[in-house]
Amino acid sequence: MSVPLLIAVDDDPDLLRDVERELRNRYEADYRVCCLSSTAEALATLDELATAGEDVALVLAGEVLAGAPGTGFLAEVRRLFPHAQRVLLVGWGHLGDPRTGAAIFEALSRGRMDHYLLRSSRPPDEQFHLAISSFLLAWADARRRAPHSVNVVGESWSGRAYELREVLERCALPHRFLLAGSDEGRALLAGAGPRRFPLLVMPDGNVLEDPSDAEIAKASGTTVEPDGDQYDLVIVGNGPAGLSAAVYGASEGLRTLCIDSGGVGGQATSSSSIRNYLGFPRGVSGGELARRAYEQAWVFGAHFAYMQRVTNLRRERGDIVVGLNTGGVVVGRAVVLAMGASYRRLDVAALEALHGAGVFYGAAASEAPVVSGEEVYVVGGANSAGQAAVHLARYAKRVTLVVRAARLDAGMSHYLVRQIEETPNIEVRAGSAVVGGDGDGWLEHLVLRDRASGEEERVGAYALFLMIGARPHTEWLPPTVERDPDGFVMTGADLSDDALRALGRRPLALETSVPGVLAVGDVRHGSVKRVASAVGEGSIAIQLVHRLLTA
Ligand SMILES: Cc1cc2nc3c(=O)[nH]c(=O)nc-3n(C[C@H](O)[C@H](O)[C@H](O)COP(=O)(O)OP(=O)(O)OC[C@H]3O[C@@H](n4cnc5c(N)ncnc54)[C@H](O)[C@@H]3O)c2cc1C
Repeated sequence: MSVPLLIAVDDDPDLLRDVERELRNRYEADYRVCCLSSTAEALATLDELATAGEDVALVLAGEVLAGAPGTGFLAEVRRLFPHAQRVLLVGWGHLGDPRTGAAIFEALSRGRMDHYLLRSSRPPDEQFHLAISSFLLAWADARRRAPHSVNVVGESWSGRAYELREVLERCALPHRFLLAGSDEGRALLAGAGPRRFPLLVMPDGNVLEDPSDAEIAKASGTTVEPDGDQYDLVIVGNGPAGLSAAVYGASEGLRTLCIDSGGVGGQATSSSSIRNYLGFPRGVSGGELARRAYEQAWVFGAHFAYMQRVTNLRRERGDIVVGLNTGGVVVGRAVVLAMGASYRRLDVAALEALHGAGVFYGAAASEAPVVSGEEVYVVGGANSAGQAAVHLARYAKRVTLVVRAARLDAGMSHYLVRQIEETPNIEVRAGSAVVGGDGDGWLEHLVLRDRASGEEERVGAYALFLMIGARPHTEWLPPTVERDPDGFVMTGADLSDDALRALGRRPLALETSVPGVLAVGDVRHGSVKRVASAVGEGSIAIQLVHRLLTA
């Protein structure tokens, strides 16, 4: 693997010298540093590097280059190096200036750059390097080179190897897939003797051969046994809402168990960059947010049970008994339901059969590298579909966004509509639906129908990403937990008169129709379906749990 490059471009020699000093002093052991004083020279160099098959991890550009905005140059970089992190260097005096802020927002939302960064100060400037390290980590994540990555080694992309990748994705664990016969696969397995594929090669060198879900669960967390361990708080679901409840619950002294049928992070792990979460002005990937939240809860003392699905719940002598698909049973004095929601499925049998083999539900972040240079379709008209299309366009030859509504802006934020319009390899097919498809072991074709004329067209397609609305994970709940017609859990003031009568008192804000059971995040009727609101509800729930436990 060639040594990746860090490139800085500035036409002010003093400023360029400062950046060069910082880059060379800190990163030259692991990266090649190349500093250039003009956009023309930089573009020519990038062209040569791309032709030579080199890799560029980071490009830093001054705010103004030869009288033009540096973002114009950064926008060009995407074409040659789609994974390179493109950063605009901003002078201290411009931070807080509304015009500079508006220009940065505009460039970010049009995908012309990835980040901005305050120019370095006198060395050592740890703040500058903290940001540079986070950009390099984002690049490594996108290139599947993140530290402590788990390697999935399989003989093919699909089948159990695909399932294992999905499991790791849902655990927010950095991972990459290697074909056993590839150079890297062979190098990793050198001298290992015959193996049962697929393999999970852990960062510490430990190897699990064709592991079952139960084996992975056991290797990574607590196993809930059938003997009914006691906890103050049992949280069902480790998405942002559940993780927040875990952090606040455990930090406030509650003996807390978090159970998830997958790992940590929930839906958020499929978002490559969450830009609207408080405190992350440069955005944060859902996986990174989940990893941080998990560690926070773990250090406060929360226990985690992975890949164990909660299948039933009942009230018994003032406690809540929670049963799992594994036969495990746990008793909580209070329970927080945080099972979130997932995408609705497309009702096309031929495409269902290709799930994981070119057809993916909401998994754009994890599968994006698979679609490099290919024809990709995304179905959906909401923000998540728009984000997926923009993200996939970095990898794919072309992304076609299939939207049922006649106009894209019917269900999507204005900034995303603009970003899609600005991305040359995204095409929008409004007023259309996917009604069929086929493939021999992997998706090959789709059938698209124009909803107005009824006309159908068969097109070549390598991957289909479906982002078509949410369904709450509540089918297992007993009828005593009141839900709306779509299955979302009713809480507090939304409970019906019947439920209120059964409860016999005014419910707490996030309390369900079963006393001691609360619901937070996307699973809750009327929830906002955002990371911040899920996190907020998770924290509020803990205050309510204290009230329940001391009542
Ligand atoms: C592609 C994408 C991009 C997004 N981008 C943004 C964004 O930029 N900004 C933003 O604010 N929001 C964004 N969202 C929305 C955000 O991710 C969700 O609102 C948030 O994750 C909801 O959190 P939650 O904890 O309520 O549920 P979820 O994240 O859905 O987590 C629920 C968890 O419960 C587990 N679970 C379900 N049933 C069971 C069971 N029976 N037993 C055990 N465990 C169970 C699941 O495995 C899952 O881990 C995005 C969503 C997607 C899909």
